Amino acid sequence: MKREPYLVFGSPRIEEDEIAEVVDSLRSGWISTGPKVARFEEMFRDYIGCRFARATSSCTAGLHLAMVVAGVEPGDEVITTPLTFAATANAILHAGGKPVFVDIDPHTFNIDPKKIPEKITAQTRAIVPVHLAGRPCPMNPILEIAEPHNLLVIEDAAHAIEAQYHGRKIGTIGDLTVFSFYVTKNLTTGEGGMITTNRADWSEAIERFALHGLSRGAWKRFSDDGFKHYEVVVPGFKYNMMDIQAALGIHQLGKIEAYHKRREEIWRRYDEAFTSAPLDLSPLPEENTVHARHLYVVRLRLDELKINRDGVVEQLHRRGIGTGIHYRALHLHSYYRETFGLRPEDFPHATDYSERAFSLPLSAKLTDRDVEDVIAILTEVLEENRR
Ligand SMILES: *Cc1c(COP(=O)(O)O)cnc(C)c1O
Repeated sequence: MKREPYLVFGSPRIEEDEIAEVVDSLRSGWISTGPKVARFEEMFRDYIGCRFARATSSCTAGLHLAMVVAGVEPGDEVITTPLTFAATANAILHAGGKPVFVDIDPHTFNIDPKKIPEKITAQTRAIVPVHLAGRPCPMNPILEIAEPHNLLVIEDAAHAIEAQYHGRKIGTIGDLTVFSFYVTKNLTTGEGGMITTNRADWSEAIERFALHGLSRGAWKRFSDDGFKHYEVVVPGFKYNMMDIQAALGIHQLGKIEAYHKRREEIWRRYDEAFTSAPLDLSPLPEENTVHARHLYVVRLRLDELKINRDGVVEQLHRRGIGTGIHYRALHLHSYYRETFGLRPEDFPHATDYSERAFSLPLSAKLTDRDVEDVIAILTEVLEENRR
């Protein structure tokens, strides 16, 4: 069976209200950072329920800024999971820190808090949990480990906008939390990110560092408020979000719960369809949590198949179904492997996952027919390749 047209993995749902808002920005002449970014930050802050939310050009930029304002410096170690996107650990390196990996819990695929203490040294400065696929990390154990060592907790919540842990929204728990609005994420602005925190001094520092290190509210210098000098107070970066991006975000945020419900529905349909397939499915969300349902990841039972993961992904692609691999763990990538002398067996659970996992389409844009095509074609590929 071949699906036409090709089902692109992670294609976002963009509607007329978003298009009109972008056009409105273009016509207004205020294209870059301006009133829509301020409005989007305010809306996001209210949605999360944190004290401060600062928009950035990407989550990668936001992670770097979070490291900088948290004071991660050369010589510092930062503990994180190897099972994440490159940006998480790259941002630690950009700030001059050293990423120290801790293996995942094989049932949740998130960092295993039980293995964190043995990696803490006098140089450890922060822990960076990543809420993989939208499943919230066990934040209470992580905070209990961090506190006596005075470690900061900086969360990579790129997958986890809608996630909650024990009645608290992700974005209100750690010291700093960073979200992504990349094309494939639960909310998209094309490229974009947001940092949330409850600390006013960090919020101000983020605003400064995101725009060249200029004194506060520098973007207003082009408004009709009248001429003002700006002052360079630190050598900052160019990490600001544009109004064109925020125009998308304002409308996407209004639909976030409805889209989350739709992805939950697709998730249940997949779970039901694959109960007897040679696949390990993801477990139900932990009690008293909300899973953001960002990625529907399956792991192949390789001992029941004549084909490996890359072979399955290739066959799905040839039959018109786009999938993703989230992720091949970072300790398997040449830079991290060689620079830090890491071996596959150092993180056995992340290595096993890296070899067996791939993600099925889960966008709110999917129709019921799209979902049934994915199910039929994956079932067909698996049946043809059973041992
Ligand atoms: C997408 C992603 C990022 C980076 O997000 P960008 O907005 O593309 O910079 C960081 N961490 C994780 C886990 C991601 O999935």
